[in-house]
Amino acid sequence: SCIPDGTNLCSNPSFDTPTIPPHSSSSSIPSSLKTLTLDGYFSFENLKHAAKDFGNICHYLPIAVLHPKSVSDISSTIKHILYMSSVTKLTVAARGRGHSLQGQAQAYQGVVINMESLDRPSMYIENGEVPYVDVSGSELWINILHETLKYGLSPKSWTDYLHLTVGGTLSNAGISGQAFRHGPQIDNVYQLEVVTGRGEVVTCSDKENADLFYGVLGGLGQFGIITRARISLGPAEKMVKWIRVLYSEFSTFSNDQEHLISSNNSFDYIEGFVMINRTGLLNNWRSSFNPKDPIQASQFSSDGKILYCLEMVKYFNPEKIDVLNQDIEKLLSELNYIPSTLFLSEVSYVEFLDRVHLSEIKLRSKGLWEVPHPWLNLLIPKSRILDFAEGVFGNIVKDNNNGPILIYPVNKAKWNNRTSMVTPEEDIIYLVAFLSSALPGTDGLEHIMTQNQHILDFCAKAQLGAKQYLPHYHTQDEWQAHFGTQWETFVQRKSAYDPLAILAPGQRIFQKAI
Ligand code: FAD
Repeated sequence: SCIPDGTNLCSNPSFDTPTIPPHSSSSSIPSSLKTLTLDGYFSFENLKHAAKDFGNICHYLPIAVLHPKSVSDISSTIKHILYMSSVTKLTVAARGRGHSLQGQAQAYQGVVINMESLDRPSMYIENGEVPYVDVSGSELWINILHETLKYGLSPKSWTDYLHLTVGGTLSNAGISGQAFRHGPQIDNVYQLEVVTGRGEVVTCSDKENADLFYGVLGGLGQFGIITRARISLGPAEKMVKWIRVLYSEFSTFSNDQEHLISSNNSFDYIEGFVMINRTGLLNNWRSSFNPKDPIQASQFSSDGKILYCLEMVKYFNPEKIDVLNQDIEKLLSELNYIPSTLFLSEVSYVEFLDRVHLSEIKLRSKGLWEVPHPWLNLLIPKSRILDFAEGVFGNIVKDNNNGPILIYPVNKAKWNNRTSMVTPEEDIIYLVAFLSSALPGTDGLEHIMTQNQHILDFCAKAQLGAKQYLPHYHTQDEWQAHFGTQWETFVQRKSAYDPLAILAPGQRIFQKAI
């Protein structure tokens, strides 16, 4: 069975129990893989971990896991599978950290490549006029942060959580509170080394093999496996001032967010989140945030209301704290938050960027990290964000006790539109992320998945022009609608770089051709 624990909740039968023709001799496939001369090795048993991801909803058992040591292991494996393609339908999924949500890094009856076993030569840091770092595609962002800081440098664009691989986030986009200024992570890459679905190892950049370069960035793993990346760096500061303020009106909140992302001399990070029917909210912050005015803040009651929290960060050098405080005063004076709800914190740059890891440690200790995560991420055009908020918050979603709901705008004028990533057609778009956990022993998973579907149905019915981020669809028609005018280019690139549709089958965009 492809379902090790019997709880596969992926819901489309045609894709979820793929129809793989019987291998001419299924036992001959592992033996044929065994004939390959590799620096690493294959395993054919105890493969359940490769059928699991952070979403913990879809479970597809592969036939083998490759633990490559070298790029040539990956290339030889793909070439071998191509060579065998007349007799087998083997597919190949690169697995970074397996932090996908719906089986995107899995390969039913195929080969999963455990990217973390790839040898990682030490990172090369160019500290010149245009600083960058060369890293393995399997490198974790947290390691890149620590290494580049030794040179006073840092990547500019992040995800909220850093224990993800470069190859995994660059296959999606990599969006966080810095993306309004620097674009997502895929816009902060100078060069890639990729093993295509033809087994060729290709270096690509804006100047060299540009079509492959832009195809792979945000390309959902469809055109090649990223084995190296050259990532743009900028100067790093040591500390951050981290600020939260509250609103009770969505339009005031979103106007302030949009104001902040449009100004050049703004904060360095801007996000926000929605709190529906939460009690004791401010008490939860007290350990890490101090109210500017403790007496007024203690009189503020959040009970029962929908509140919107604007979250802002300014990086700073402790020697220039006075200038920083003046800048922040000025920026805050332009906002319209509830005055008693200004909360401040000061932490190191690393502590701030690695903040979600602290939650991970806490949740792991309570056994709550490995629960199902039916997350839904949407991109909504600015012109329809009020309709979205009115229709969803408090109506479809009546509380957010299952997890945070992030919401923040980004300025797409700063984004490169040549990548494969799909966004709504407007200059300012909002990322809305419903980051739910399904707690054990409850009907949480089904309830959350039904709620997610209601949100998607609402977006479709109201014709909001929304797009999914970390998209998940069941049919090729839905994928075609998702890509819209970019579909033709996406299909052309597939036939150019992975003509037999071997790569990343867990995205369920193309069925392997035979
Ligand atoms: P995997 O899940 O292993 O792979 C993702 C996809 O990429 C799969 O299709 C896989 O086959 C393919 N792939 C993996 N490695 C490679 C490679 N080297 N070359 C080509 N294809 C490859 N995303 C954001 O944008 N912003 C956030 O703030 C953010 N926060 C997150 C917080 C948490 C706690 C978690 C779990 C995820 C978060 N994500 C965020 C989502 C994250 O970007 C995706 O899960 C992404 O898939 C990275 O995970 P991974 O490295 O484990 O990749």
